[in-house]
Amino acid sequence: MATLSRTLRPLCRTATSRLASTRTTASAQTLRSARAFSTTPRRKDVDLTDVTPTPITHMSETETMMAEAVSKFAQEQIGPKVRDMDEAETMDATVVEQLFEQGLMGIEIPEEYGGSGMNFTSAIIAIEELARVDPSVSVLVDVHNTLVNTAVMKHGTADIHRKWLPQLASGTVGSFCLSEPASGSDAFAMQTKAEKTAGGYKINGSKMWITNSMEAGFFIVFANLDPSKGYKGITAFIVEKDTPGFGIAKKEKKLGIRASSTCVLNFDDVEIPKANLLGEEGKGYKIAISILNEGRIGIAAQMTGLALGAWENAAGYVWNDRKQFGQLIGTFQGMQHQLAQSYTEIAAARALVYNAARKKEAGQDFVMDAAMAKLYASQVAGRVAGSAVEWMGGMGFVREGIAEKMFRDSKIGAIYEGTSNIQLQTIAKQLQGQYTR
Ligand SMILES: Cc1cc2nc3c(=O)[nH]c(=O)nc-3n(C[C@H](O)[C@H](O)[C@H](O)COP(=O)(O)OP(=O)(O)OC[C@H]3O[C@@H](n4cnc5c(N)ncnc54)[C@H](O)[C@@H]3O)c2cc1C
Repeated sequence: MATLSRTLRPLCRTATSRLASTRTTASAQTLRSARAFSTTPRRKDVDLTDVTPTPITHMSETETMMAEAVSKFAQEQIGPKVRDMDEAETMDATVVEQLFEQGLMGIEIPEEYGGSGMNFTSAIIAIEELARVDPSVSVLVDVHNTLVNTAVMKHGTADIHRKWLPQLASGTVGSFCLSEPASGSDAFAMQTKAEKTAGGYKINGSKMWITNSMEAGFFIVFANLDPSKGYKGITAFIVEKDTPGFGIAKKEKKLGIRASSTCVLNFDDVEIPKANLLGEEGKGYKIAISILNEGRIGIAAQMTGLALGAWENAAGYVWNDRKQFGQLIGTFQGMQHQLAQSYTEIAAARALVYNAARKKEAGQDFVMDAAMAKLYASQVAGRVAGSAVEWMGGMGFVREGIAEKMFRDSKIGAIYEGTSNIQLQTIAKQLQGQYTR
């Protein structure tokens, strides 16, 4: 990795500094050979033939340090604010500032642009560790890194890289605007339109459910430039927050991840320059599909982190605090078995997540793996967070600790970046392709 010699921001510096003494393991060699832009096509040259197999959840020293540093940061800096942010349905601006300061908003952005220059799995680790404490903060980081930054790195021109990557790494939050009131699962049936103007493009329409929109200054907007071509007219554009005609119409009030902003956006004759075209005209659907395939691994990581956080919170209570019938409630066999079952399911979900991440980094086809990871991790998160409320009895049900919040937050895993039915469709389609004679 090109990051080793550079002075990085606190968390990523901690994570990368130890790599100087990295053992010459096969996985470290694989990581070193990886390029800073961790996109699948660029990594097709990684040859795994002679790599000694390691456990799927094995992390390099850099990644281990990343996990430890983000965990500490999340517990110490975000933990005390989680309940208040949820009640206020607002992301604390200081938290966003800290995420930038810590290098967590430019994890894969190359160092030359002010990013941390780390690999995709490091981003997954950060998303997971943040979700253990607060899934709302986790999704802010997830959307910014795995959707927005990745789309810019993968599809932006050199000028776009020079202009935007330093800002995305240092202080400008990003949003990814695909869904609309009438197009959710059928995302490419979008109504938002773009037309060419003398200086560039004009966008009209509206987007719905857009994460990070209250905090964001940078929006990747998908609009149809040529509806006569159907989905092949869909094109990706960059829209800046202060562009005339662009506005936030409504902030949603939600069941879970309430500190994460989700808004309806309006585009009323929004004029943007030619330079704000992201990728090629008519290639927006390809960009959206490829970015969301990667993004799903991020949501899967958010869900495994959430499940683990809910489990740990309840385990701490039943094995240390609460006694009934003269003994700690976690020492009853009925409770022990449920705790063991849930932990096993979390471990299985994590294995799917890390396998999908490693396959992506190795340049292998990971589409079905990402769908399986997201599907299963969100199911596990729902089951475990629900059980955790029950294990804590009344204390799990009240809005004091995090148990009830984690349960509410878990529901979103089955909805965004493709519902569970859509993941099942992806998996079934791939399987049918393999098994049809
Ligand atoms: C909190 C939140 C944050 C979000 N953030 C973003 C964001 O940042 N950017 C963005 O672009 N979008 C975002 N979304 C939108 C999200 O991706 C969509 O909500 C999701 O794709 C589902 O679309 P929908 O809500 O219209 O549901 P629908 O598509 O109406 O689906 C409703 C139900 O019908 C089922 N269904 C639909 N089609 C099929 C089918 N073919 N086969 C079987 N079942 C089917 C679905 O599985 C689901 O159970 C967000 C949504 C939420 C709630």
